[in-house]
Amino acid sequence: MQEYRSKVIILGSGPAGLSAAIYCSRANLQPLLIHGIQPGGQMTITTDVENYPGFEDVIQGPWLMEQMQKQAQKVGTKFINDNISSVDFSQKPFKCFGDSGNKYVSDIIIISTGAQASWLGLDSEEKYKGFGVSACATCDGFFFKEKNVAVIGGGNTAVEEALYLTNHARKVTLIHRRNELRAEKILQERLYNNDKIEIIWDTVVEEVIGSENPLSVEKIKLKNLLTQDTTYLNISGLFIAIGHIPNTGLFKDFIKMDNAGYIITKPDSTKTNIDGIFAAGDVQDSIFRQAVTAAGTGCMAALEVGKKIAEEKK
Ligand code: NDP
Repeated sequence: MQEYRSKVIILGSGPAGLSAAIYCSRANLQPLLIHGIQPGGQMTITTDVENYPGFEDVIQGPWLMEQMQKQAQKVGTKFINDNISSVDFSQKPFKCFGDSGNKYVSDIIIISTGAQASWLGLDSEEKYKGFGVSACATCDGFFFKEKNVAVIGGGNTAVEEALYLTNHARKVTLIHRRNELRAEKILQERLYNNDKIEIIWDTVVEEVIGSENPLSVEKIKLKNLLTQDTTYLNISGLFIAIGHIPNTGLFKDFIKMDNAGYIITKPDSTKTNIDGIFAAGDVQDSIFRQAVTAAGTGCMAALEVGKKIAEEKK
């Protein structure tokens, strides 16, 4: 077992963690960044990215993360390939324990472990992920101009995604497993008043069907839960909006979270309930969940860390 000590430890290597790393490194805070189980985070399972500012042409999610990592490395971030499996935040210095058996110790931690979209769990859904199956309408809706798409779910996200998709798609079908939406009433009203949206109630997706070359979605097999009838719906895009799971299980004994498990940060800040522990990115954001907003809060965390260290030195 090896023990690593650092002025700042960053957990997670998505846009939030890497932005925090770039800013911390440039402030000479010599951060140590621990990758986690999915180096690069959710962006590495996206294909085309058109909404990250600074690139005229379409870029690829994995490429963007690679660039961010190289940039962080260039300015001095030290990277560790490990996955933290437990932490002890009961007192300073804070301790993080990796799968490797190594221990990481610091008085300052930036948590940027992200979130994961919930998926239906179908093999065919997995097959077409990034090729017609998506969990982010803002990211991928544009690719379905004048096409038919479907959204799965009945919460705020599903309704907002369905409404958003009407800006691009010819027709949007919202498919929900019950006959009542969980979404706020005002969103429901907008949904019902939108001519481009049709709703299929009491129904679940059983299979995503498509072509092999190029890999693309053509239709979905649906089952009505009341009648058990099977139907098929022709679509080019399937958007799964059945919730997200923030990667915060590790911290539950120490860090304050909301009912859905998102870390609560102080208003206009990335500070958590523990002095010296900051949270940035999707791990503390259930609303926006964009790479650019995650990068923004990563920058905020680094600036707040810099300020704290400077004040403590005085
Ligand atoms: P929610 O948990 O609110 O809704 C998830 C939806 O997916 C539910 O309708 C649920 O059905 C359905 N669902 C869950 N699992 C499955 C499954 N396996 N198969 C089919 N359907 C499934 O998640 P959201 O992402 O919509 O919202 C998360 C949080 O973020 C909420 O608190 C929401 O209010 C908030 N939010 C707020 C926004 C805003 O204020 N503008 C925008 C987006 C989110 P069922 O209803 O039957 O359980």
